[in-house]
Amino acid sequence: MHEERQIKPADFENILNNLDAVVYVADTDTHELLFMNTYALRHIAHADNFSDIAHLPCYAVLQKNQTRPCDFCTNAKLPANGDVLVWEFKNTRSQCWYQCRDRLIEWHDGRLVRLEVATDISERKKAEEALQRAQKELTTLAETDSLTGLYNRRAFFRYVDELIKLRVQTAYFAIILLDIDHFKLINDRFGHEAGDKLLSAIGKALRSLNNKNSVVARTGGEEFTIAVTGASQDALVAVAHQVQALISDITLNYFDATLSCTASVGIATTNTQSPDINQIMRHADHALYRAKAAGRARTEIAT
Ligand code: GH3
Ligand code: MG
Ligand code: MG
Repeated sequence: MHEERQIKPADFENILNNLDAVVYVADTDTHELLFMNTYALRHIAHADNFSDIAHLPCYAVLQKNQTRPCDFCTNAKLPANGDVLVWEFKNTRSQCWYQCRDRLIEWHDGRLVRLEVATDISERKKAEEALQRAQKELTTLAETDSLTGLYNRRAFFRYVDELIKLRVQTAYFAIILLDIDHFKLINDRFGHEAGDKLLSAIGKALRSLNNKNSVVARTGGEEFTIAVTGASQDALVAVAHQVQALISDITLNYFDATLSCTASVGIATTNTQSPDINQIMRHADHALYRAKAAGRARTEIAT
């Protein structure tokens, strides 16, 4: 009776081989595999018996086309007191994600060897990745004006801060404000849908200005703001003129009509280290007001 209750070495092996997890042991110096359970043999090593691979280093068996120790090998990182090191990894042979739990254990000959127990977390990773994609899409949606595809007002201020922080120390900075001229007349004459289509075309044209030196946004109904950095004040004023030309070059067929418009543009520049955005916006706004007052379809520079 007592004899039957005792667990035999074969039972331990049976248990290990039937665990739903990768279990293996490798020498920390030579990387030689000392044990591998059936799950790991089947799912990763593609071998029938441990004896088929027993002479090989762990990296050659566990990873695809790996001819030297892996860059992510945990041997050097394992706590000497036997504490577990938990890490996650996408296996290059099975293409599955695993949560790996590695620790040093004493082998029967007295040397310290690495024991790894790894469970398949591919489903969790897939869900995490889907969640990350959804979060990214949500952020994009929350920051984008749907009609023009440009940043909205909130995103504008967020990215302007980044633009200022990341710019070259000696760079000039400008706010370019533009307001479509007599836009109400376009709505009145052709209808709101025509106005929308024109705004959408304006958005497409302005998107071409979006690069690492600028942030373009629809900051009002028919008002757009561009923050831009550049090597000189002249270069930034040239951008303002370019923007004004970009708008007046747009022609859009709408039933029998051809829609087009002009923009009034105000620009304010600075080369101070920490520009006060609101102040520069105010200066650009004054310049825009002067452009309107002087007859529209023109660019005015804040003094
Ligand atoms: P000004 O040259 O002085 O800027 O004249 P304006 O007519 O452009 O300016 P005003 O501020 O009087 O009118 C702006 C118009 O823009 C009125 C508003 O209906 C229109 N608008 C604002 N947002 C949208 C939009 O999303 N779609 C359409 N179709 N029209 C819009
Ligand atoms: Mg306006
Ligand atoms: Mg207007």
